[in-house]
This record gives sequence, structure tokens and C-alpha cells, in this order.
Amino acid sequence: MLSVAEPQSQTDSQTVYFRCIAGCSAKHSIFDVIYRCPSCGSLLEVHHEREPLKKRDASQWRQLFDSRVGTTTWPYGSGVWGMREWVIPSLADENIVSMCEGNTNLFWAERLGKQLGVPDLWIKLCGISHTGSFKDLGMTVLVSVVKQMMAQGSSVKAVACASTGDTSAALAAYAAYAGIPAIIFLPAGKVSTAQLIQPVANGAHVLALDTDFDGCMKIVQEVTQDKSIYLANSMNSLRIEGQKTVGIEIAKQFDWEVPDWIVIPVGNLGNISALHKGFQLMMDLGLITRMPRLVAAQAARANPFYESFKTGFKEKISVTAQNTLANAIRIGSPVSYEKAVKAIAETDGIVEQATENELAAAAAHADLTGMFTCPHTGVALAVLTKLIKRGVIKSSDKTVVISTAHGLKFTDFKVGYHESSLEEVTSQYANPAVYLPANADAVKAEIEKRIS
Ligand SMILES: *Cc1c(COP(=O)(O)O)cnc(C)c1O
Repeated sequence: MLSVAEPQSQTDSQTVYFRCIAGCSAKHSIFDVIYRCPSCGSLLEVHHEREPLKKRDASQWRQLFDSRVGTTTWPYGSGVWGMREWVIPSLADENIVSMCEGNTNLFWAERLGKQLGVPDLWIKLCGISHTGSFKDLGMTVLVSVVKQMMAQGSSVKAVACASTGDTSAALAAYAAYAGIPAIIFLPAGKVSTAQLIQPVANGAHVLALDTDFDGCMKIVQEVTQDKSIYLANSMNSLRIEGQKTVGIEIAKQFDWEVPDWIVIPVGNLGNISALHKGFQLMMDLGLITRMPRLVAAQAARANPFYESFKTGFKEKISVTAQNTLANAIRIGSPVSYEKAVKAIAETDGIVEQATENELAAAAAHADLTGMFTCPHTGVALAVLTKLIKRGVIKSSDKTVVISTAHGLKFTDFKVGYHESSLEEVTSQYANPAVYLPANADAVKAEIEKRIS
């Protein structure tokens, strides 16, 4: 039987609130329907005042979070809600919409690391999650807040998002779990079959538009001007609160040691901002004493953040994102640009890019060491390879690659690679199945040829 946790303190709502990232002074309730600063239009962030959190010291926090891993006490079995005090403390237990997300594997990529020349290489496998990507971490938080808003009589009737695929899968699943209608805007023909079928199966209202992701993003922002439809894209900073737990989880899994590098594929730049926010909170509360260096990995065909980095972030550059195998990061005008610039600046970070051929080769290479990488993880691995070759990441460095989605959501990419049919890609690791007659001699001859 599940036991029920103690209720949260009433004062949380005064110490956890939305504030403007550009520094405007107003505080807004996280239960208000608000996505941008009403004074200057900048994005908001959920701010946790540090003083109340300092009532526990670093070792007490470590112990508390460590003690919840694997528990059946609701809602602490979730990797996100196991850090509830650092996420959204003022939610009632019954409003938390969780399918036990988080607590994903962080495993030693022993063979791949040795082959690449960084033996201390680790993969954080966020794709091992309910809908197959890290997006579940943010969606459990956003949908829980909406459930509480609706329970308190808010006029919100539905949730909506534009998506390159994984956001819609996560939103549709969590909304269906909570019984809240979901409206999904997808760029027609630009998401994988697996990504499209998830919101369809979960009963969402799926609207495939004749545009790209950035076009869908414009429409959803217009539609959600109506306050009864709540915006679930990562410009809504509630998502970031869930996603930031990935960095805290990494530290926890390393017994609160910080890796030298974390490489992450980026599109709209919410996830890297979240990663930074989690590490910053741990620094402020004394759980860790240094930051990891963050590497943002972009597909060369959708690389506005890389282009901005090259100018020293003098200005935000937008591009028209081209078709890329890494379709979840096919974004030309990233919403969380300012937050991500801060993440790179404050961690001595780097932005690098990978071509279609590089990302496909890196993914296929990793698969040969037992992984099943999505194309976005391929982008991160290709960028890792470049930085090792350039001598930036050293052989003794402890490095984590964040694998953002499950490879099984991208079987078209895998099939295309091994059939050598992908554009701009030379399938150097292609390993197609061989078709033989059901004849033992033919089979033995084939095995003889292959294994000698
Ligand atoms: C959303 C997504 C990303 C990019 O995250 P951003 O927050 O948009 O930068 C990377 N990989 C996968 C698989 C995704 O679904």
C-alpha cells in the first residue's frame, strides 16, 4: 500500500514564485496564467528563495534525497518529486500527476569511452522514461500545477503545445493521465511516426500544420492568449523546474561529485537552462562546490545558438532551420536563448555543431558498443568526439553525455542508416541483415565467413 506524505507548509507560495529573468521586481504566483514579464516581455523563471531552504544543511538535503530513491511513498518514488521541496513545494499530494519519471540510468560507457579516448565516459539515459524522452520531467510539473489550478476553480480548460515530437508525446500522456484535454500543434510531415502516434493514442487533439516548428510556436502563442488554454511549451518555466532535476540526479548518482563536462543536444534551449539551474541551486545550498562545464550540441542544419556563440553572444541569431535527422532540435529561433547564454557563460561552456554525417556516424558507432542512440544523442556524441580531437576534453576528464530520447522512437533513422539510404550520410557502420535460405550448410558457410 502507498503511504501518504505529510502536507507541505503554507508559506511555500511566498518563497517560490515566478520572477522576470531580466530583473524586473514583480513576483507572480506560479498558479497565475502568465508566461512572460508583464513589464518587459522577458521570460519568467521559478525562483526559490534560498534562506528557507538553508534550514536544512547540505548533508541533510543529500540524505533526504538519497533516502527517497526507489520508495513507494507517494510521490517520492518519482525522480522529480523525490526533490519536491526544490521543485514546486506547494502542490497538494492529490494534484501531483506523476508516472514515476526520472531516476533514469547513468551508466559507464566503458567500451565507447575507451574507443573515443575518454575512459571516464558516462551516459545519462533520459529516454528511459514513460514517453521515451526527458520531456516527461518537465511535463509532470506543468500538468500537476494545472491540475491544482483547475481544482481551485481556475478558468483553464485545456493545455496546448507546439512540438517537434517529444513535447507533444509527454504533454498528451500526462494530460490524459490527469483527465485534462490536450491540444497539440505539429509541423506536418516533420516528426517521426512514433512521435506522431503517441499523442494520437493518448486522445489529444492533434493539429498537423503546414509549417515548421517555429511556425507552430507562433500559432500556439496566439491561441493561448485565451487564458482558458494553458501553454505547455518550455517558454513556460514550470517545465524547467522538472527538467532541472536531471542535473541534481547526475550529482546524486555520482555520490554528489560533479563531472568535468556535460554534453547535451539543444534546440529551444530549455533543457540546458534547466541543467544549469539545478547545478546553481546545489552550489547555493552547498551540496557541491564547483560547476561542470556545459557543452551545447547543435545540428549544423539548425544551429542558431552555435552561430550566436561564434559572435561571443553579441546578439541572438535566428536561422530558418533546415531538415535534419535530429528533428527534435530542428529549431531556428530558440525561446530560452537568454537563459542558455547564462548557462554557457557561467559554466565556461562551449557550443559546437555536428553535420548529418557526423551525427549519424556517432550514433551508429555508439550502437556498436551496446547503445541504441537517438539522432540527438548522436549530435552530442559527435560534438564530444570533436572536442576530444581538439584536445578541449582531456582523456582524464569525467564526462557525461545526456541522451535525451529513446532510440526506439527513431527507428526510421536507424533503418535508413543501415540501408544506406540517408541523405548526406555515408553509412560506414551499416550492418544490414543477410537473407539466406533455411539451409544449414548455407548458414554455416555464412557464419564461417563472418566469425573466424
Ligand atoms: C526537446 C528535445 C531536445 C532539445 O531540448 P531543448 O530544451 O529544446 O533545447 C533534445 N533532444 C530531444 C530528444 C528532445 O526531445
